[in-house]
Amino acid sequence: MSPLLERSRLCTVRWALLGICLLVALGGGLAEAVERGRAVRPLKRYQQTESHMGTYFTIILYAPSEEAARSAFRAAFARVAELDRILSDYNPDSELNRLCAQAGRGPVVVSEHLYRVLEESVRVARISGGAFDVTVRPVVRLWRRARRQKRFPDPNRLRAARKLVGYDKIVLYPEKRAVQLRQPGMQIDLGGIGKGYALDQAIEVLKNRGIESALVDGGGDIAVSAPPPGRAGWIIAVPMPASTEPTYLVLAHTAVATSGDAERFVVLNGVRYSHIVDPRTGIAVKGPRQVSVVHSRAMTADALATALSVFGPQDALAFARKHDLAAQVVAEQDGRYAVLRSPAFDRLLCRSRRVLQRLQRSTER
Ligand code: ADP
Ligand code: MG
Repeated sequence: MSPLLERSRLCTVRWALLGICLLVALGGGLAEAVERGRAVRPLKRYQQTESHMGTYFTIILYAPSEEAARSAFRAAFARVAELDRILSDYNPDSELNRLCAQAGRGPVVVSEHLYRVLEESVRVARISGGAFDVTVRPVVRLWRRARRQKRFPDPNRLRAARKLVGYDKIVLYPEKRAVQLRQPGMQIDLGGIGKGYALDQAIEVLKNRGIESALVDGGGDIAVSAPPPGRAGWIIAVPMPASTEPTYLVLAHTAVATSGDAERFVVLNGVRYSHIVDPRTGIAVKGPRQVSVVHSRAMTADALATALSVFGPQDALAFARKHDLAAQVVAEQDGRYAVLRSPAFDRLLCRSRRVLQRLQRSTER
């Protein structure tokens, strides 16, 4: 299991009283689905993990039979793999890289998936004032090398890379479903949004197969559909630094994404630099910081978590308040972690003492 996955400690807890009674009556493993007073086939919980997009994806779903579960897993994971082939910046043959090869030329007609992700990328770039910007890839590359070599990016290279950055250089043609990258040498990095889109799509594929209750975890970013049968929501542990109090959310039909530098960072001259870069300055984000955002679309949660990581903690909170966004920022202040939450995030916290006690007991074991 990946450290991210382990940290996210997916827990579906018997949450509503009704759920608890049902589960006790049925011996814990099964939950009865009732339709207009008539019992239908009981739904069982199934779980499967596969490696995709450089991380582990785990799907938990409720299905009437093992056969139904197996074919649902197959279809959902196949969609994630398909999206990796489209959105990956590592794979030279990805549709994204084929588009980048056309930078500086005319518009290119792209797949619906790539168009949707780029459209949302530009929207989030606009509302975040360029804190999220998928054209940042040339700069991200220099910082990736800086992490490996443990020294600052070369200033001349950084200057040249910064000239290629700017979401206004992406032109979208919705009627033709075409995209133009205006400047030669431009590169797009969907690492801050693509995984979120894959989570949305996996949930969508499962819904189209009649799977109502599902959870999809992509390396700690999680999308959920309807709660497990008889329960009020999925209880999700938000990834947090080990020294902080665990945070549990009660979620249904939504997603939570976390951006942070827990694993990928470099310390230069005593300052810790994250793998997230401020596209406006070309400098990597400083200091340990972890931002979680809840949004009905995982793609948007993913992008906004990256954007808010670029803002300082106070600005991130102000942005979340202004947009009525559920966000949590964990940042180091005076050698300790401070946890800041927007009111919309606060409302999603699990407050059931009984559930919290149960969670504590299960993690102590
Ligand atoms: P994680 O990869 O840990 O889930 P994120 O979702 O925040 O974290 O994505 C970070 C990735 O996004 C980076 O590895 C990089 O590829 C890309 N990126 C870095 N900074 C930005 C930015 N300001 N805007 C858009 N994408 C970024
Ligand atoms: Mg992100």
